[in-house]
Amino acid sequence: REAGVAAALTNHETIDLAKRHLVQPWPCAGEIGAEARSLISGGEGIYITDGEGKRLIDGPAGMWCVNVGHRREELARVMYDQAMQLSYNTPWYTMNEPSAVLAERIAAYAPGDLNHVFFTTGGSTAVESALRFMQFFNNARGRSDKKLILSRGGAYHGSTYLSASLNGRPRDRDWMDGADELVVKLSSPDAFRRPEGMSIAAFSDMLVAEFEETVRRVGADKIGAFIGEPVQASGGVILPPENYLPRIRKICRDNEILFIADEVVTAFGRLGHVFASEDVFGIDPDIITFAKGVTSGYFPLGGMVVSERLLEQLRRSNHPTAMYAHGLTYTSHPVGCAVALTNLDLLEDGILAHTQAVAPYFQQQLKTLEELPLVGEVRGIGLMACVECVADRESKNPLQLDTNVGMRIDAHCHELGLLVRPLINMCVMSPPLVITREQIDDMVGILREGISRTMDDLRHEGVWQG
Ligand code: PLP
Repeated sequence: REAGVAAALTNHETIDLAKRHLVQPWPCAGEIGAEARSLISGGEGIYITDGEGKRLIDGPAGMWCVNVGHRREELARVMYDQAMQLSYNTPWYTMNEPSAVLAERIAAYAPGDLNHVFFTTGGSTAVESALRFMQFFNNARGRSDKKLILSRGGAYHGSTYLSASLNGRPRDRDWMDGADELVVKLSSPDAFRRPEGMSIAAFSDMLVAEFEETVRRVGADKIGAFIGEPVQASGGVILPPENYLPRIRKICRDNEILFIADEVVTAFGRLGHVFASEDVFGIDPDIITFAKGVTSGYFPLGGMVVSERLLEQLRRSNHPTAMYAHGLTYTSHPVGCAVALTNLDLLEDGILAHTQAVAPYFQQQLKTLEELPLVGEVRGIGLMACVECVADRESKNPLQLDTNVGMRIDAHCHELGLLVRPLINMCVMSPPLVITREQIDDMVGILREGISRTMDDLRHEGVWQG
């Protein structure tokens, strides 16, 4: 059999191989190693093609990553050209040009004095690198007790051991171990589920007070970092209450707690900017982690941008030979960095501006779905949004897990030509940034019909009377 793109298997043969030999990510024990998922065979622009040849709008842009859209020839070509020039070099003893040029271009976009980049293989390794950097930083500066990490409910930071220990979504940790002794958890900034009758301003005050109280109780001399997504993505597109992030930033600065903004989703165009921390939320973190959109998902690459001030402190520390013993075989991968450079060209050549122009329309159109009685809230920013379904609007009761409402909506939408990212009772929409107004109309029209059909099903089954 020929390898690569044209491996000519029937759908059934592919599914059979997968069920016999492939372990999918996030499997349940009852199906592990024996599971078939929707087969995707192609992609172009905002569309993907399933195994039956059906064209679907790629609602989640892969995993919030295919920002410039599928099948961009420029990206395919640069991968080929770079691999023919230099496919790989060891970052342990050597360096390459694309990574140095990319670091300089990323530094130019990063806020404040963030001007150095460490490249990784994706988001989890970016987060892991940032946290291990914080541990090293404090060890080298003689503060080896200052290493606890603050993270929040609703967070998702990755699937490696330390990054996964930070996750705060329900179910993520039920059956998995973690480095719990290193992590202190705070509340999710989810304003939709704030205490009954509380204003958003009071909710923000409550979160800030909890943060201050935690620093007091645990001790600033024990806390090394706070990590947070500016918009909690996989937690259901949770937007921070206004002014909450700058207030947290200030508390961190006052207590020498490193503020790590996890921009794995929000960077590289999702909110219309290369980085959202400063441009959208007015904060200048100590470290920003990124991945996904940096190559629009064409190559696994991530990284962290770190402050010059921190590096300077290390260079001046009492331990000039102390080693940040951390690096990956694929750190500064020349092909990944070359792809990222061309991807950044595409973003600069109109896609960022286009995103800023269509985002309000995208949000307005999705917001109309709140007319449907199953929809409790539609929220979002830039080209990311979440449609949260509730059984009862008054009590905001999430639908019972066993009704799997997100999956039901996804199944209807698939038939109608849209891939949805179902998250229990929520549908997350984050299409490729090149989506047009007409395509937004198509997407919202299909989603409306998919939710309507789901409401009919639930009524017929007698599990919901909305
Ligand atoms: N951080 C955030 C905010 C994410 O959304 C994700 C993945 O979805 C990660 C980190 C982990 O990235 P990766 O899956 O590339 O390791």
